[in-house]
Amino acid sequence: MTDPAPPPPRDCPLCPRLAAFRAENRCRFPEFHNAPVPSAGADRPVLLVVGLAPALKGGNRTGLPFVGDVPGGSGHFLAGALDRAGLNGVPVRITNAVRCVPPGNRPTPDELRRCRGFLMAEIATGPRVVLALGQLAHESVLRGLGSTPRRHPFSHGARHEIGGLVVFGCYHPSRQNTQTGRLTAAMMDALLAEVRSACAGEARPHGSAPFGAAPFSPGPFSPDCA
Ligand code: SF4
Repeated sequence: MTDPAPPPPRDCPLCPRLAAFRAENRCRFPEFHNAPVPSAGADRPVLLVVGLAPALKGGNRTGLPFVGDVPGGSGHFLAGALDRAGLNGVPVRITNAVRCVPPGNRPTPDELRRCRGFLMAEIATGPRVVLALGQLAHESVLRGLGSTPRRHPFSHGARHEIGGLVVFGCYHPSRQNTQTGRLTAAMMDALLAEVRSACAGEARPHGSAPFGAAPFSPGPFSPDCA
């Protein structure tokens, strides 16, 4: 059995651009969390929800993924959908593919790759189902599992089985998507009904790596990072 996934260190230096942005935000918003945002929820989830990255004044402010954004933001939309889904008793954990807030809410492919070790540590705790919010989070999950977007393409509602893990694609609940009707509450409810059914399937043993999953390797840390 794998221990609950270790969080990144507060001064993780693996993404220089994001580390510099963190430092800048510690000056601009000293009351904010301004560090890698840890995952939240059950230590040994059956359902792992994977977003893209914390928002500057959302997760980066509160230190909790999808918590603290403006009313009508992605956190409110997601929380409402999970509440309505009737996941009674299903252990749920929420994380992000990139743990540090990126400028413009847009991490680079290299930043997604560098943070993937932390994402795979979450998957190694043994969820049966992953709900990936948005194409970039979906691709990061796939690549961590040794697959590619060509083999398992993203679309809203797509279901892929990879080494015993069920991966669902979902449009990101960003305001841009929810306020334009690209993602509606009804669409989210329909998808979460499928997720709920998948969660009821046979659980993968905790700690068993899905086929093709890369071993967790966050890389070397600088001993004197600021
Ligand atoms: S690897 Fe993750 S935690 Fe580390 S600096 Fe990059 S985004 Fe932040």
